[in-house]
Amino acid sequence: MSVAEIETPLLPIRIVPDPVLRKMARAVTPADMDEVRALIPTMFATMYAAPGIGLAAPQIGRLLRLVVIDLAPEKVPTPLVLINPEVVAASEETATAEEGCLSVPEQYAEVTRPARVKVRYLDEHGDKKEIEGEGLLAACLQHEIDHLNGVLFVDYLSALKRNMLLRRLAKDQKGKAARK
Ligand SMILES: [Zn+2]
Repeated sequence: MSVAEIETPLLPIRIVPDPVLRKMARAVTPADMDEVRALIPTMFATMYAAPGIGLAAPQIGRLLRLVVIDLAPEKVPTPLVLINPEVVAASEETATAEEGCLSVPEQYAEVTRPARVKVRYLDEHGDKKEIEGEGLLAACLQHEIDHLNGVLFVDYLSALKRNMLLRRLAKDQKGKAARK
Protein backbone atom coordinates (compact mmCIF):
# COMPACT_ATOMS: atom_id res chain seq x y z
CA MET A 1 0.00 0.00 0.00
CA SER A 2 1.38 3.43 -0.90
CA VAL A 3 1.67 6.33 1.53
CA ALA A 4 -1.03 8.16 -0.42
CA GLU A 5 -3.44 5.30 0.21
CA ILE A 6 -2.65 5.15 3.90
CA GLU A 7 -3.28 8.88 4.21
CA THR A 8 -6.58 8.83 2.33
CA PRO A 9 -9.14 10.00 4.86
CA LEU A 10 -11.89 7.52 5.65
CA LEU A 11 -15.55 8.38 5.49
CA PRO A 12 -18.10 7.36 8.08
CA ILE A 13 -20.32 4.56 6.76
CA ARG A 14 -24.04 5.22 7.17
CA ILE A 15 -25.87 2.58 9.16
CA VAL A 16 -29.57 1.65 9.15
CA PRO A 17 -31.97 3.32 9.88
CA ASP A 18 -30.14 6.29 8.25
CA PRO A 19 -32.72 7.59 5.72
CA VAL A 20 -30.05 8.23 3.05
CA LEU A 21 -29.83 4.45 2.58
CA ARG A 22 -33.46 4.39 1.42
CA LYS A 23 -33.15 7.12 -1.21
CA MET A 24 -32.73 6.72 -4.96
CA ALA A 25 -29.28 7.81 -6.12
CA ARG A 26 -29.08 9.92 -9.27
CA ALA A 27 -27.06 9.15 -12.39
CA VAL A 28 -23.51 10.48 -12.55
CA THR A 29 -23.18 13.14 -15.29
CA PRO A 30 -19.98 14.42 -16.94
CA ALA A 31 -20.19 17.42 -14.57
CA ASP A 32 -19.89 15.03 -11.60
CA MET A 33 -16.75 13.30 -12.84
CA ASP A 34 -14.29 15.46 -10.89
CA GLU A 35 -16.12 14.73 -7.66
CA VAL A 36 -16.44 11.05 -8.57
CA ARG A 37 -12.72 10.71 -9.31
CA ALA A 38 -11.97 12.31 -5.94
CA LEU A 39 -14.43 10.01 -4.18
CA ILE A 40 -13.09 6.75 -5.64
CA PRO A 41 -9.85 6.43 -3.59
CA THR A 42 -11.69 7.50 -0.44
CA MET A 43 -14.40 4.92 -1.05
CA PHE A 44 -11.84 2.15 -1.62
CA ALA A 45 -9.90 3.15 1.51
CA THR A 46 -13.12 3.21 3.55
CA MET A 47 -14.20 -0.18 2.15
CA TYR A 48 -10.80 -1.85 2.73
CA ALA A 49 -10.60 -0.48 6.28
CA ALA A 50 -14.10 -1.66 7.20
CA PRO A 51 -13.29 -4.34 5.87
CA GLY A 52 -15.77 -5.02 3.08
CA ILE A 53 -15.89 -6.19 -0.54
CA GLY A 54 -18.26 -3.57 -1.93
CA LEU A 55 -19.38 -0.03 -1.17
CA ALA A 56 -21.99 2.15 -2.85
CA ALA A 57 -21.92 5.96 -2.69
CA PRO A 58 -25.19 6.24 -0.68
CA GLN A 59 -23.44 4.30 2.10
CA ILE A 60 -21.15 7.28 2.58
CA GLY A 61 -24.00 9.73 2.19
CA ARG A 62 -23.57 10.63 -1.49
CA LEU A 63 -26.65 9.94 -3.62
CA LEU A 64 -24.73 9.21 -6.83
CA ARG A 65 -24.83 6.01 -8.91
CA LEU A 66 -21.28 4.96 -8.05
CA VAL A 67 -20.05 1.62 -6.67
CA VAL A 68 -16.64 0.21 -5.79
CA ILE A 69 -15.99 -3.52 -5.48
CA ASP A 70 -12.96 -5.65 -4.64
CA LEU A 71 -13.77 -9.27 -3.93
CA ALA A 72 -10.34 -10.42 -2.75
CA PRO A 73 -8.31 -7.44 -1.55
CA GLU A 74 -6.00 -9.68 0.49
CA LYS A 75 -5.31 -12.25 -2.22
CA VAL A 76 -5.45 -10.61 -5.64
CA PRO A 77 -6.65 -7.01 -5.37
CA THR A 78 -8.97 -6.35 -8.32
CA PRO A 79 -10.53 -2.96 -7.68
CA LEU A 80 -13.59 -2.41 -9.82
CA VAL A 81 -15.27 0.99 -10.21
CA LEU A 82 -18.80 1.05 -11.62
CA ILE A 83 -20.47 4.32 -12.57
CA ASN A 84 -24.18 4.25 -13.50
CA PRO A 85 -24.22 0.43 -13.39
CA GLU A 86 -27.24 -1.33 -14.78
CA VAL A 87 -28.19 -5.01 -14.79
CA VAL A 88 -28.93 -5.71 -18.46
CA ALA A 89 -29.38 -9.49 -18.20
CA ALA A 90 -30.02 -11.93 -15.36
CA SER A 91 -30.23 -15.73 -15.37
CA GLU A 92 -33.45 -17.49 -14.51
CA GLU A 93 -31.42 -19.82 -12.37
CA THR A 94 -31.02 -18.47 -8.85
CA ALA A 95 -28.39 -18.89 -6.17
CA THR A 96 -28.69 -18.53 -2.42
CA ALA A 97 -25.78 -17.23 -0.37
CA GLU A 98 -25.16 -15.51 2.92
CA GLU A 99 -24.89 -11.73 2.65
CA GLY A 100 -23.86 -8.99 4.98
CA CYS A 101 -23.62 -5.24 4.54
CA LEU A 102 -21.41 -2.51 6.00
CA SER A 103 -24.60 -0.50 6.60
CA VAL A 104 -26.15 -3.40 8.53
CA PRO A 105 -23.04 -4.25 10.56
CA GLU A 106 -22.42 -7.78 11.83
CA GLN A 107 -25.77 -9.12 10.63
CA TYR A 108 -25.90 -11.87 8.04
CA ALA A 109 -28.68 -13.70 6.23
CA GLU A 110 -29.19 -15.93 3.21
CA VAL A 111 -30.43 -14.11 0.13
CA THR A 112 -31.66 -15.64 -3.14
CA ARG A 113 -30.86 -13.79 -6.35
CA PRO A 114 -30.26 -14.57 -10.05
CA ALA A 115 -27.14 -16.75 -10.23
CA ARG A 116 -25.57 -14.82 -13.13
CA VAL A 117 -25.91 -11.22 -14.25
CA LYS A 118 -24.56 -8.99 -16.96
CA VAL A 119 -23.96 -5.38 -15.90
CA ARG A 120 -23.30 -2.38 -18.12
CA TYR A 121 -21.47 0.59 -16.58
CA LEU A 122 -18.95 3.35 -17.10
CA ASP A 123 -15.47 3.01 -15.66
CA GLU A 124 -13.56 5.81 -13.90
CA HIS A 125 -12.47 7.19 -17.30
CA GLY A 126 -16.07 7.36 -18.48
CA ASP A 127 -15.58 4.42 -20.89
CA LYS A 128 -18.51 2.05 -21.50
CA LYS A 129 -17.87 -1.40 -20.03
CA GLU A 130 -19.70 -4.64 -19.48
CA ILE A 131 -19.08 -7.33 -16.91
CA GLU A 132 -20.61 -10.76 -16.46
CA GLY A 133 -20.53 -12.33 -13.06
CA GLU A 134 -21.58 -15.46 -11.23
CA GLY A 135 -21.18 -16.62 -7.66
CA LEU A 136 -19.91 -13.99 -5.24
CA LEU A 137 -19.41 -11.39 -7.99
CA ALA A 138 -23.03 -11.74 -9.20
CA ALA A 139 -24.38 -11.36 -5.68
CA CYS A 140 -22.09 -8.41 -4.93
CA LEU A 141 -22.98 -6.58 -8.16
CA GLN A 142 -26.70 -6.96 -7.42
CA HIS A 143 -26.30 -6.02 -3.75
CA GLU A 144 -24.38 -2.84 -4.60
CA ILE A 145 -26.71 -1.79 -7.43
CA ASP A 146 -29.63 -2.30 -5.03
CA HIS A 147 -28.02 0.33 -2.75
CA LEU A 148 -28.35 2.87 -5.59
CA ASN A 149 -32.10 2.23 -5.53
CA GLY A 150 -32.50 2.44 -1.77
CA VAL A 151 -32.79 -1.35 -1.45
CA LEU A 152 -31.02 -3.34 1.28
CA PHE A 153 -30.42 -7.11 1.45
CA VAL A 154 -32.78 -7.32 4.42
CA ASP A 155 -35.62 -6.42 2.03
CA TYR A 156 -35.36 -9.93 0.53
CA LEU A 157 -36.04 -11.60 3.89
CA SER A 158 -39.41 -12.44 5.39
CA ALA A 159 -40.82 -9.68 7.61
CA LEU A 160 -40.19 -11.91 10.62
CA LYS A 161 -36.51 -12.50 9.79
CA ARG A 162 -35.98 -8.86 8.81
CA ASN A 163 -37.46 -7.53 12.04
CA MET A 164 -35.42 -9.95 14.12
CA LEU A 165 -32.22 -8.91 12.37
CA LEU A 166 -32.97 -5.17 12.63
CA ARG A 167 -33.88 -5.47 16.32
CA ARG A 168 -30.62 -7.33 16.98
CA LEU A 169 -28.72 -4.59 15.10
CA ALA A 170 -30.45 -1.79 17.06
CA LYS A 171 -29.55 -3.55 20.31
CA ASP A 172 -25.89 -3.97 19.22
CA GLN A 173 -25.65 -0.32 18.18
CA LYS A 174 -27.15 0.82 21.49
CA GLY A 175 -24.64 -1.35 23.36
CA LYS A 176 -21.81 0.15 21.33
CA ALA A 177 -23.01 3.71 21.97
CA ALA A 178 -23.22 2.99 25.71
CA ARG A 179 -19.64 1.66 25.77
CA LYS A 180 -18.28 4.75 23.98
ZN1 LIG B 1 -24.47 -3.27 1.41
